[in-house]
Formats: sequence, C-alpha cells, structure tokens
Amino acid sequence: MSKNHFETDAVRTQLDRTEFLEHSVPLYLTSSFVFEDAEDMRASFSEEKQRNIYSRFTNPNTSEFVEKICKMEGAEAGYAFATGMAAVFSTFAALLDSGDHIVSARSVFGSTHTLFTKYLPKWNIETSYFKVDEVEGIENLIQPNTKILFAESPTNPAVDVLDLEQLGTIAKKHNLILVVDNCFATPYLQKPIGFGADIVIHSATKLIDGQGRVLGGVAVGREDLVREIYLFSRNTGPAMSPFNAWVLSKSLETLAVRVEKHCENAAKLADYLESHERVNFVKYPFLKSHPQYEVARKQMKLGGNIVAFEVKGGVESGRKFLNNIKLCSLSANLGDTRTIVTHPASTTHSKLSEEDRLQVGISDGLVRVSVGLEHIDDVINDISQALSS
Ligand SMILES: *Cc1c(COP(=O)(O)O)cnc(C)c1O
Repeated sequence: MSKNHFETDAVRTQLDRTEFLEHSVPLYLTSSFVFEDAEDMRASFSEEKQRNIYSRFTNPNTSEFVEKICKMEGAEAGYAFATGMAAVFSTFAALLDSGDHIVSARSVFGSTHTLFTKYLPKWNIETSYFKVDEVEGIENLIQPNTKILFAESPTNPAVDVLDLEQLGTIAKKHNLILVVDNCFATPYLQKPIGFGADIVIHSATKLIDGQGRVLGGVAVGREDLVREIYLFSRNTGPAMSPFNAWVLSKSLETLAVRVEKHCENAAKLADYLESHERVNFVKYPFLKSHPQYEVARKQMKLGGNIVAFEVKGGVESGRKFLNNIKLCSLSANLGDTRTIVTHPASTTHSKLSEEDRLQVGISDGLVRVSVGLEHIDDVINDISQALSS
C-alpha cells in the first residue's frame, strides 16, 4: 500500500526519467523492444527478467497507467485493455472454464448483459441474476459450479446501489471470485477491494479519461487472478494502445479534482430536480430519498456524477424532453466534461419488453444525466427549460 495520499500518487507515480530529464512522461510509441544479446532475449522470454518485450504484453505507458490504478484501488496487480468491454470479456474468459456458473446483479452494462446471455453460453457458462434489492436471495442462486459473483455499483442507468460489504461476505463464505465493475464510482469515490472484491474492472473511457477522447479498460486485483488475465490477454491481444495509456495516465492526475466537481454539480442538479413539479422521482445515491442511501454513505465518498429522474408522462414525454434540450449533449457516452442526457426506454433499452425494463429500474419516463463540468446553473437552466416547454 502506498503511504501517499490519493492525489499525490495520481500526480507523482511516473516512469523513470530518460537521459533527457523530461518533466512530463513521454509517449513510448513502439511495438517492440530490443535485446542486448541472445542470453538477454532468452531470460526475458522465460520471465526470469521483468522487462518489456512487445507492446501486446506490456509497454512503459500502459505499465504506468496500471500502476496508478493499482495504487488508487489498493490492488496487487493489473492489466490495461483497449476498452472496458475487453477488460470485462477477458476477465471472464481467463477465469472461467466450460461448465462454470456466474451469479450477477440483473442491472449490468448492456454489453456485459449480452456477453452473459449470448456469448458465454457458447462455452457452456450460464448466469443467474439477482435484483439489486434482493441481495439476500443471492445465496439461493449459488450452485456447486458457481465461480464468479459479479456486480456494478452504482448501476447503469437506474443508479441503484449494491452493498459491496454484503457481496464481499457472501463471496468469501462460498469461495467465489467477487468481480466489481467500478466504472461509475471511480477509485476516488469507492474502493471495492476494501469490501472483499478480488478483481475490479473499469471502463477508462468514462470518468477516468473524463474528456470523451479515448477508449480504455483495466482490470486490477489479486495477483494470482491477474496473472491468469494477463496470460490470456498477452496471447489473445486486447491490449490498450500506448497512446491511449499516455492520455489516460495524464487524465488520472486530475481525477480527484474533476470527480469532486462532477459530484458537486450532480448533487445540485439532483436537489433541483427533486422539487420539480414535472418530475416523479429522482435517483441519486446521496439524496436521502435514495432507497440505498445508507449503503451509499457507507461505501462512497460522494454520490457520483450520474443522476436519474422520471419525467411525468411516460415514453413520449421522455422523448420530448430530449428534443427540447439545447446545451447538453444527446450522446451514448458518460463521464465527460460535457453534460449528457439519455432516455434509456426509447434508445439503449428499447429492445427489452416493458416488464424486463422495469426489472432493471427503467421506467418509460426515466432520463439519465451524466453531469459534466459546465457551470451547473447553465445545465440546470437547460434541463429546466426542456422540462417546461
Ligand atoms: C461503458 C461501460 C463499460 C464498457 O466500457 P467501454 O470502454 O465502452 O468498452 C462497462 N461497464 C460500465 C459500467 C460502463 O459504463
């Protein structure tokens, strides 16, 4: 464990300087590295030496990025991926065998859900689901072949909160690998390993980049498990590019200040919406009205940057709200400097039946706001005019 504070590690964790004594870390845009002689090459390939061989395995920029995330999450080791989904898929592919079983929260990121329902069954890996408010029921879902317990918190897009401590206890009792997608919280707000998670995954595309520029993913955690993930990945090729790692490592330097401000803005928007006459309800982890408010206070430093609310009047009023938006963006990303609004029922989740949507907390009028770093008064003015026109 690092003895520095979070912000200090974020800024000061960096590669050794080159002969040029640069202050800011350079970009190592190289696919491979050279060896001194045959013996150096042999020792490197047999892993007697820890060194860079080929950028599909490791690269200085990706190593720096991974080291920072490990310090932030309190993890032993990690590996960086081209995207968040590459991190999710490679983690499952590396840790599971044919015939294994997953227990997962029902509300998970859309592509993760598709992985569980469409692709993992090809290798005879099945998944059972629990509702976010039925964590007590998890133990009934565990089978002799269950290997992984999976969850995201807060969830997308309904902003539900799962009790990580409870999940950690269940995983330990049944000897399961607890995998947590910590994308919505970032390590600045929430550290799942402290509650018993074995692997923590991020889509670095979101708040870690925070500026909507590059895709990236990372998985960190227990050394023995990361070793399996690394070996799978070094042979199958989902590695993060050095350029993206360079961008993302610099993004991490400002993660704390950015996320503080995102959360401050989101809390103000949530407060404003809670008393709005055209809004049925607001979901934000640090609002007292949130069903898991106490859990959120226990495991999160602040409430995050995602606010969900229900516009009165169903699907059509949700679509109308989107059409009236002027400043905010209609976009599929989140965790950007620019505030983004989406209407899941008519877009990302439109293929689900109404019943299935309600199971994951997506009512017809639900709007998700990824609150950005504009002045919050301008964001509130935009949302306010869109609600009342
Ligand atoms: C975006 C996202 C992912 C996937 O990340 P990509 O970088 O888009 O592949 C996974 N999990 C969550 C919670 C996300 O929000």
